[in-house]
Amino acid sequence: MAKETENKTNEALREKLLSSPKHAARILKQEEIDTADRFCEDYKAFLNASKTEREAVIEIERRAVEHGYTKFVPGKKYEAGSRVYLNNRGKAVILAVIGKTCISEGMRIIAAHIDSPRIDLKPNPLYEDSELALFKTHYYGGIKKYQWTAIPLSLHGVVVKKDGASISVTIGEAEDEPGFVITDLLPHLGRAQSERKLGEGIKGEELNILIGSRPLAGDEGADSVKLNIMNILHEKYGIIESDFLSAELELVPAFLAKDIGFDRSMVASYGQDDRVCAYTSLIAALEVENPEKTCLTVLADKEEVGSNGNTGLDSSFMKYFIYDLAEASGIAGHTVLSRSECLSADVNAGFDPTFPEVMERRNAAFFNRGVVVTKYTGARGKSGTSDASAEFMGKVRRMLDGAGVVWQTGELGKVDEGGGGTVAMFVANLDVDVVDVGVPVLSMHSPYEVTAKLDVYMAYKAFQAFFV
Ligand code: MN
Ligand code: MN
Repeated sequence: MAKETENKTNEALREKLLSSPKHAARILKQEEIDTADRFCEDYKAFLNASKTEREAVIEIERRAVEHGYTKFVPGKKYEAGSRVYLNNRGKAVILAVIGKTCISEGMRIIAAHIDSPRIDLKPNPLYEDSELALFKTHYYGGIKKYQWTAIPLSLHGVVVKKDGASISVTIGEAEDEPGFVITDLLPHLGRAQSERKLGEGIKGEELNILIGSRPLAGDEGADSVKLNIMNILHEKYGIIESDFLSAELELVPAFLAKDIGFDRSMVASYGQDDRVCAYTSLIAALEVENPEKTCLTVLADKEEVGSNGNTGLDSSFMKYFIYDLAEASGIAGHTVLSRSECLSADVNAGFDPTFPEVMERRNAAFFNRGVVVTKYTGARGKSGTSDASAEFMGKVRRMLDGAGVVWQTGELGKVDEGGGGTVAMFVANLDVDVVDVGVPVLSMHSPYEVTAKLDVYMAYKAFQAFFV
């Protein structure tokens, strides 16, 4: 064979036999890249409007109602094409579009989470020290505590007063509103601190929020700065100190979502784990019409603390919803579950060239290589995960390729380097086939997480394909 022909044959063989992941921009048409960029404009607006699980629920419910979703009525038999939603205690939502085939054939479920790591107030938060007023806090989820000092924070949440009235609080987001901050030690006096291990650079009990520094006018008594703050809060919200006992107040970064890079190819924002999958699955759910199978989008709370609690997916709220739907059609709930399939929509770690040592390059997820399918998460020999079956992986793979979705596989770091979990195993416990599908993230769990726009858009395309 002539040399040239031989080279061509080898090239064809290489193309046929070996996989070679590519940058999505090398695969997609310019048109689709532009669409992805436009898609992320509304994504940023969603992130800014949804800084806590409660705010996300309000935003999701608003959009769902706009798209014809109505409140789910247990016991009611819904026709194909009906769109219903369930708001679980203001902190989690289920959206359902009834399919053409009977639900005894199973459902298509996408489960993402809308809670993110943050700083919660303790039940007795308010105190004064050295004529400064501060809040004591207890962090929520896995954070690197040192990242949360010396950045602007905003306060979000609810206070339930003694009489039962619920007061909603959001302060520190608008330009003209005050913000809050956790102070850190100046480097000049940081010698001993700098010798602490990084994980203890800032300790849990050092995450104190600076909230005031002036005494109540004309007051000479004790804790006058604290009293002044309580007086301001009473005037603004009608609350007294003991009302903090029945409150959920959360501090989150006061930054807005922003394009990153000279090429504007990325988005940085607080809370992209996992509102990036919540948003992309939400849009897929809002757009789907007359699907074959019933489509369920579950946007859950409490994932960052292990999915425990009645708004998390280790509780029965999703199961009960499905059982209610099944019962109305005279079908056993477990029949529906056993035949259902689920994409556990959650982020994975993107490969960071600054920290390559924790990743195994051949199995890591990279920015711009599309949505990442993660067969298993867990730690120490695949503990604490649902390892998706070859059969279900095969199905998902055919679906993604069929829809022209750019996708890649990922693993959460090197073996024995660390690990993590998602809601996948809780859904799998219900006898549902499930695999993790999501977006690679840099600086995950930090106050300012980064994603690539093409990956965000590909997640949406994947969820859209799943719901068809
Ligand atoms: Mn997550
Ligand atoms: Mn997380």
